[in-house]
Amino acid sequence: MKLNLTQPEKTFKCRQCGTCCSHIRGMMPEEDKEFMKEMAYGKLPLVQMVPTEKMSFPLWDWEAKRFKKYQQEVNIDAKIKTSRAILDLNTNKAIIVTYFMDSDSCPFLRDKKCLIYYTKRACICRLFPFNRGPFLSIGDKPKKENMFGTCDAMKKLMPSIPENYDDMVKFFSKAFPDGSFENAVQFDCITEWVNRTIIDLMKRKLIRPAMNYPYGFFLKRFENSEKIDFTDFLEQSGYIGSKEELIKSFDENIGAKKKINDFLDEAE
Ligand code: SF4
Ligand code: SF4
Repeated sequence: MKLNLTQPEKTFKCRQCGTCCSHIRGMMPEEDKEFMKEMAYGKLPLVQMVPTEKMSFPLWDWEAKRFKKYQQEVNIDAKIKTSRAILDLNTNKAIIVTYFMDSDSCPFLRDKKCLIYYTKRACICRLFPFNRGPFLSIGDKPKKENMFGTCDAMKKLMPSIPENYDDMVKFFSKAFPDGSFENAVQFDCITEWVNRTIIDLMKRKLIRPAMNYPYGFFLKRFENSEKIDFTDFLEQSGYIGSKEELIKSFDENIGAKKKINDFLDEAE
């Protein structure tokens, strides 16, 4: 089924105020912070490399590659650093899954304008005003109050969003002509794909992640290891054929389109 293109009376319109890009550090919901503090510093295969209060939004490895190129084109230092990695004991390689920009405000923001707006920006740049999609299975179904970051343009729209989950998702599918809803769903699709892929790599014994190491020891081993990006590792290990095809499907929101259409079909 195709998305119903009839627009509801009220739709989201970004005012391009730049607020979301000027506060990129610590935009994580509180419940996620608690989970991270408890689990992400060595108890899971994917290890957090920076304290939660220092973190800014994540760039997937292929996006970080693009951002490193863009920073040269616009002559800035975007301070791109590793944020999450797997230390693989099979190959002694540090496999980098996400990066972050070590800055309070996005380094690409100038006079409230994005210097790289014309490019394929990161998925996380394109999902504002959302801070998550509705399909990620992490406990209870999300409520409208906890799905958005701080955005003044949402104040007018918020009362029109239905409380009921199914109606809320249907509303989202029509009320965000800027594509932010689809991008938020795509971001969650990539998160799920990363988690699924790590588990599968472990099952197939293609990786043996270091877990339950003292954190300081982990960081030291990470520093001394050869680094490789996650999608490069998948390609080099033969787990995927071409990473370009995979990245193209992410860029084109193929997973999100299917998820939203499946939901609307079922809800009919
Ligand atoms: S999404 Fe909201 S906060 Fe971000 S630029 Fe648009 S209006 Fe401003
Ligand atoms: S790259 Fe551009 S859109 Fe993304 S956070 Fe920075 S200024 Fe905002």
